Amino acid sequence: MRMRRNSGDEEIRKLLRKAGQGDWRAAEQAAAILKRRAGHEVGRTAWESLSEFCDDIDATGGIVISERGEYEPVADQDWVDLGSTYVTACHVLGREPMIAETIDEQTGDAIRYAYRYSNESGVPLVTCPECGGDLTADGGIMLVVSGYRPLELRSRLDSSGNLIDVDDQVATGHHGGTYCGRCGELLINIDYVVETQTTD
Ligand SMILES: [Zn+2]
Repeated sequence: MRMRRNSGDEEIRKLLRKAGQGDWRAAEQAAAILKRRAGHEVGRTAWESLSEFCDDIDATGGIVISERGEYEPVADQDWVDLGSTYVTACHVLGREPMIAETIDEQTGDAIRYAYRYSNESGVPLVTCPECGGDLTADGGIMLVVSGYRPLELRSRLDSSGNLIDVDDQVATGHHGGTYCGRCGELLINIDYVVETQTTD
């Protein structure tokens, strides 16, 4: 009996990894095991098992979000399926995934991202070409950031076309999309709008 608990944890981890690779049978098997445990094991629930899985990832430094938007475990950045499973598990548990800053491999410094909007000649975008809305007014921009769930935040551009960050979300690599706050159009879908991403 003592051994079964430990080997069961390993089995669930294996199944969760497979689930992260899109294996739905593995996901169902993991769910069935967790359900059985929740029913039969006093003091140990599905919740605790998933929490333990997430604690393990947290203990190794969590994940970084790659430039392609993939979730890479800090411990093994090639293992994006595991990172994806971790984010899903965090979502199920309602806890924030541990997202480490993206580190420049050459300098070792944290990479910070910024976005600017202009026309093709570099003239800053200040009004929406679609609806004429003032993009520099408070709430002129609807900013979508990605994380364990997408968030819509109100922002604006400054008079030079620079996207104003909210809570450091853009700088730390969570930019998902910049939309007109009035008509809701994604700016880069509008003809002649140029988006420039810069990092430092
Ligand atoms: Zn608009």
